[in-house]
Amino acid sequence: MTIRTASDWRSDATRLRFRRQAFIDGKTVDALSGLTFPAINPASGSTLVSVAACDQADVDVAVKSSRTAFERGAWSAISPSARKRVLLRLAELMMTHADELALLESLNMGKPITDSRNIDVPVSANCIAWNAEAIDKLYGEIAPTGSDALALVTREPLGVVAAVVPWNFPLLMACWKLGPALAAGNSVILKPAEQSPLSALRLAELAMEAGLPEGVLNVLPGLGETAGQALGLHMDVDALAFTGSTEVGKLFMGYSGKSNMKRVSLECGGKTPHIILRDCPNLDAAAQAVASGIFFNQGEVCNAGSRLLVEEPIREALLEKVIAISAGYMPGDPLDPATTMGAIVSKPQMDRVLEYIDSGKNEGAALVRGGKRVRVESGGFFVEPTVFDGVRNDMRIAREEIFGPVLSVVSCASAEEAVRVANDTIYGLAAAIWTSNIDTALSASRRLRAGSVWVNCFDEGNITVPFGGFKQSGFGRDKSIHAIEKYSDLKTTWIKINPTPAAARVLT
Ligand code: NAD
Repeated sequence: MTIRTASDWRSDATRLRFRRQAFIDGKTVDALSGLTFPAINPASGSTLVSVAACDQADVDVAVKSSRTAFERGAWSAISPSARKRVLLRLAELMMTHADELALLESLNMGKPITDSRNIDVPVSANCIAWNAEAIDKLYGEIAPTGSDALALVTREPLGVVAAVVPWNFPLLMACWKLGPALAAGNSVILKPAEQSPLSALRLAELAMEAGLPEGVLNVLPGLGETAGQALGLHMDVDALAFTGSTEVGKLFMGYSGKSNMKRVSLECGGKTPHIILRDCPNLDAAAQAVASGIFFNQGEVCNAGSRLLVEEPIREALLEKVIAISAGYMPGDPLDPATTMGAIVSKPQMDRVLEYIDSGKNEGAALVRGGKRVRVESGGFFVEPTVFDGVRNDMRIAREEIFGPVLSVVSCASAEEAVRVANDTIYGLAAAIWTSNIDTALSASRRLRAGSVWVNCFDEGNITVPFGGFKQSGFGRDKSIHAIEKYSDLKTTWIKINPTPAAARVLT
């Protein structure tokens, strides 16, 4: 692999072709209204391209196309191994075009190119490949009936699935939905976030090139309040897979109830507690994990370890190390491979992060690192790695999801108190605990109300394990074989053997 420099990436960026139209029924089309919205480069504030702003009328066309494709059966009714071949080809094409996809992701969303190229793109391609490989290895069931019957329990695709995804990992969040939903035989309409539509539009073309039949994947860029809402309320969408904020997740539950009771799965926000106990086996490793747990991806991570719950005797030593490490996360040009923290996705999001920093100061927390906008001359939206000490768990910076590089440090007197504070939140996406005592680790893991618990590490895992939330972090799981359950339904086929006239009906 050749080592690419910042100037290589910048020069590629000048030649990059941005897709700006929606992708419906195998064709690129403008929004019927002719309206567009700007795709912004958050590292400079400049517009990359104007993208089709789809709304209800486009959603109607896309749903018809998806339904027709589903009923035609060119995807839904072919063998799982035939679907597998196409999806494996898509994963391969994603890796062939990995530099291009990574560049689209970094330019449109502000994340460091090293992360886009080494994490977002390969992990997304692997998600598609893993689901492709899984789908022809899943068997149905034969129920334990009497000898006069044969009962088959089979899994069937749902039909038209809409996926509405956020901007923090545009390609990866899309692939967490597309992998299992397409593998299971559904038609999918993907609505990327308005802040980051560009990689999804390119992905649609690659899917066609891989051999996905027309209408099986439609990609509709558009605003949440128009395109997103129209998908949520549509009477002919069978399921809606959402990743985004808890606030909008609740709206989707309402849309479902007001329309056709489409099943909804919600991957929402978090306020992950990162607990470090006094018997932490390696304070340097923990400090590294704390820093990357909050500063990776500019802190724009649903499971970011935004609350550090540390036992008082080690607080000072740990904090000193975290602050020293945080210097390595000063924001830089996303296209420079040395950059570890890029731009915040948009001006409104940056303003929101800065407003939370003000609220921390006003509520009496001690700002011990960062707190300011930087690289202002670039025109981009950059915020320093920021650390507040002396935080109480009832302050806004400890309760609300900031979605930026802001760490809140809460001191705890014991493991017991740390677990209690960890659970004192509306969220339950993830939690972590560092301790040398296996009993402490396991009993804390049992008590922590979170979909993932990490012991002596942070944000570890891979496609083999489910990911999703407890409480208001949502329900339904992405990743692992369990994700396929969200995109398929169980059907019972009861076959009578040697039917004879029934004497009397006996209930069993
Ligand atoms: P968001 O909720 O604002 O938007 C997410 C998607 O919903 C976008 O496509 C948007 O266009 C759409 N949307 C917005 N308003 C809508 C409306 N009124 N009706 C219908 N659709 C609407 O979230 P965001 O700011 O894009 O992303 C950040 C959020 O995503 C954070 O809360 C983060 O925790 C969450 N997230 C969760 C996970 C997870 O797996 N749990 C992963 C990544 C991000």
